[in-house]
Order: sequence, then C-alpha cells, then structure tokens
Amino acid sequence: MDKLLMLPGPTIVPSEVLLAMAKPTIGHRSKEFGEIFYDTIEKLKKVFITENDTFIVTGSGTATMDMAISNIIKKGDKVLTIITGNFGERFANIVESYKGKAIKLEYEWGDLAKPEDVKEILDKEEDIKAVTIVHNETSTGARNYIDKIGKVVKDYDALYIVDTISSLGGDYVNVDKFHIDICVTGSQKCLAAPPGLAGITVSEKAWEVINKNENEKVGFYLDLKAYKKYLEKKQNPYTPAVNLIYALNKALELVLEEGIENRVKRHERLAKATRAGLEEMGIELFAKEEARSITVTSAKYPNGIDDKLREIMNKKYNIVIAGGQKHLSGKIFRIGHMGICGEKEILATLSCLELALKELGFNIEGSGVEKAKEILSKL
Ligand code: PLP
Repeated sequence: MDKLLMLPGPTIVPSEVLLAMAKPTIGHRSKEFGEIFYDTIEKLKKVFITENDTFIVTGSGTATMDMAISNIIKKGDKVLTIITGNFGERFANIVESYKGKAIKLEYEWGDLAKPEDVKEILDKEEDIKAVTIVHNETSTGARNYIDKIGKVVKDYDALYIVDTISSLGGDYVNVDKFHIDICVTGSQKCLAAPPGLAGITVSEKAWEVINKNENEKVGFYLDLKAYKKYLEKKQNPYTPAVNLIYALNKALELVLEEGIENRVKRHERLAKATRAGLEEMGIELFAKEEARSITVTSAKYPNGIDDKLREIMNKKYNIVIAGGQKHLSGKIFRIGHMGICGEKEILATLSCLELALKELGFNIEGSGVEKAKEILSKL
C-alpha cells in the first residue's frame, strides 16, 4: 500500500506529474528538449516572481545552496549567516567549506530572525559580501520574514541570499519585491515534483560580484556562468535529468493553474487546522507563535512519548511524519502539509495520531480531528 507522505519533503506527487515522467527520454541537446527546458524555466520564473536570470540544476536543493556561495565568495570573504535551525547552519558550513568567514547570527531553534539584529551587524562589520537566510526553517517549523530582512539588506553592498527550498509554491515568495539577489529552491517540497532538481535565481547585482570573481573561481559543475552561457541556447551545460524536467514542468503548470495566492491561502488554512488539532489533543507546538510555518508544523513529544509514535503511524497506519533533527531528535515531530496536501490528508493524519497516542498511553484532552474540522469549516 502507498504511504501517505506527510513529510516536509519529499511530498505527495500528483499522478499527472508522475505520468509526465513516463514520456520517452529525448536528447538533451535536441531542439524539442530545448523548448521544454526553456518553458520549465519560464514557469519557474513566474513562481519565483522574478525577472532575474533563473536556472535549473540537476541535484537536490543543497546543490543550489552550494552554488549560491561558491560563485560569489573568495577565500576569506565574510558572509553573514542567519541561523534559526539546521538549514541556516548548512549555509555557514558551506561558506566555511569554501574558506570564507561565516559571521553567525544565531537564534534559538524555533525562533525567527529580527531585522534590527541584521542591521546592527551590517552597520558594525565592514565588507560583508552576502547575507544568507532560510525562509522556512524546515528543521524547526519556524519561518523568517524574508520581506522585512530584504528591506534591510538592500541598503548595503551585501548580496541577499535566500533559501526557499521548503516554501516556494507554498508560502509567499516574491524574489523581485523582496530584493533577493540569489534565491534557491528544490523540486520535492511545495512544488510537489519528485526529488532531484533545484532552482536558482541571480540578480544583476549578483552577476557583478560573480564576474569580478572570474580569476579566483572555485568549482566546476555549479559554475553559474556556464549555466548562463548554455541557457542562451536553451540548454544546460551538462546532461540534465530529462524526465524530471518533464515532471517539474507539469508540477509548475499545476502551481500556476491554482495560482500562487490561492496556494498560499490553502497552506495557511491547513497549517491552522493542524496546529489547532494538535493543541486540542494536548500537544504543545514547538515553534514560537509568531514564527510558525505554514508548510510544516512542529510539535513537542509529550512526556514519555518519543519516535515510537512515528513508528506506529508508519507501520500501522501507513502515514509518514518526520522527527526532529540534530539536538531535537526524539524531542519533536514534524508534520509536513505542503505541496498538494489537502483537508483529507490532515484529517487522516490527526485521526491516526489520536489512535497512536492513545496506544502509547497518552491521555488525549480533546478530539484533534473534530477541532481541525471545525477550523476548516470556518476558513
Ligand atoms: N533547506 C531547507 C529549508 C530544507 O528544508 C532542505 C531539505 O529538507 C534543504 C535546504 C536541503 O535540501 P536537499 O535535501 O534537497 O538538498
């Protein structure tokens, strides 16, 4: 039996998207593929809401995080890395891996970044080349206000690099309006395509920095200049995952058909129902109230309950939810409600959670599924 994926990625892939992959594989240098490839990029640009150059990379989201850093920094360059969880930390690790200097602005996991803190560091520290932030910190279920931080960063020379890997197509992202210089995403989350592709946008301000780095460039596969050169011919520099491009094209078509505003509203509605349902049962939410993500909900395991809960959900009910990462392992669980997730998936998850919690001896306070239904009927 198919598992119900309630993970914060990979998410449920619609059958139309899966079927799109079943078309014959064609040559990646053919005119026919070039048209599909270019059309996929045009659609992705619409979802990013940008006029900036946009590229698709065969690789997971981390490939474009890596690309964002390797193309702009040289040894010793300073990058302000805003850290609200595991993926913010990843940006700092990438900076250090290229011998850059990560200036870490760290917050407690579950919290969000404050624009005034970013401003303070940018005022104090000279020559910060870029600021990195994760829009939706999947590891904690908390989101950052990338619009507000963007308003701060735009007044400095630093480039604004944003990870929208678990928000693009689910939460509101507007690359141009938020002054984002480099924005990265992945195929397997809110876009509801299979894993294996990543997207990246590059502003004029970013190109100026990239062009200046020419003589000290590091890396090969993720060299943005090669992607730009080949895109002029509607191609990718290396063999792209042809059939995954078919899938992404279809998935983006579905996003645009639903409309970004509608999609964000749907995610908001599901998040509210999920949170209310969990709280009704007596489960404490993990992320701070003002920081709560609309694509993934994190919750604390009640006393005496641990990842056994996820095991029962998976083995008995075929519903897959995520656990905590790093120091939150065994302390929290996370329910992804992103992509094409709808009411029935939320209600099924909450019902089975109730059963699994009861089996583990937890005294349910109220019916989570009833509460979620009530919330959904009002929104
Ligand atoms: N950034 C965020 C916010 C994520 O949620 C993830 C994956 O969960 C990543 C980065 C890494 O993406 P990938 O596993 O596709 O490389």
